[in-house]
Amino acid sequence: MSKIIFFGPPGAGKGTQAKIISEYLKIPHLSTGDILRKKLLDKDNLAIELKKVMSSGNLVSDDILNSIVSSRLQNEQSSGFILDGYPRTLKQSEFLNNFLSNTSYSINFIFNIQIDFNTLKHRILLRSSEENRDDDNIDVIETRYNEYLNSTQQVSDFYKNKFKEIFHEIDGSLQIEEITKKIKQILKKS
Ligand code: AMP
Repeated sequence: MSKIIFFGPPGAGKGTQAKIISEYLKIPHLSTGDILRKKLLDKDNLAIELKKVMSSGNLVSDDILNSIVSSRLQNEQSSGFILDGYPRTLKQSEFLNNFLSNTSYSINFIFNIQIDFNTLKHRILLRSSEENRDDDNIDVIETRYNEYLNSTQQVSDFYKNKFKEIFHEIDGSLQIEEITKKIKQILKKS
């Protein structure tokens, strides 16, 4: 069963593609952003803390993310999964590697969706009016993009070097359908 990671800066379209591909392969889509946004609805102390961090565009702590992901992966690993938005730091990637080696499962595909800052700024602003997310505004976009450059790009570079044969660069400036087509072609070839 396929185990897939999607990387890319905020606004690159990884969430959209992860959802389409999860329906196509009939495997769960684990979006850590979606899981965290759901937790905000609890309105408890954790939700208040998460809201502060997320609405400023910073990353939530590795401990919180690792515990969310490991409990979800315990249930999903046998049927395959798509990770969207995780791992985002080297600590999270170490945790995932340990988790996978303990279960002797491995990742089959990694898609890195690339896009330039101006295009994604435009996209995120459009999404903010459609989805009403309070971390999609011009002040926060830069923080989120910098978090990506400072933390997550190191993680994708690590995977790119370590798992060359399963790491695929995708041009995120293409239309949604074209990107999906390219991803499906790669999935079919392997
Ligand atoms: P996303 O929907 O993936 O853009 O995530 C929205 C926000 O949730 C991010 O800006 C972070 O504040 C938080 N978040 C999501 N995934 C992670 C992660 N793996 N590590 C830390 N924070 C995360």
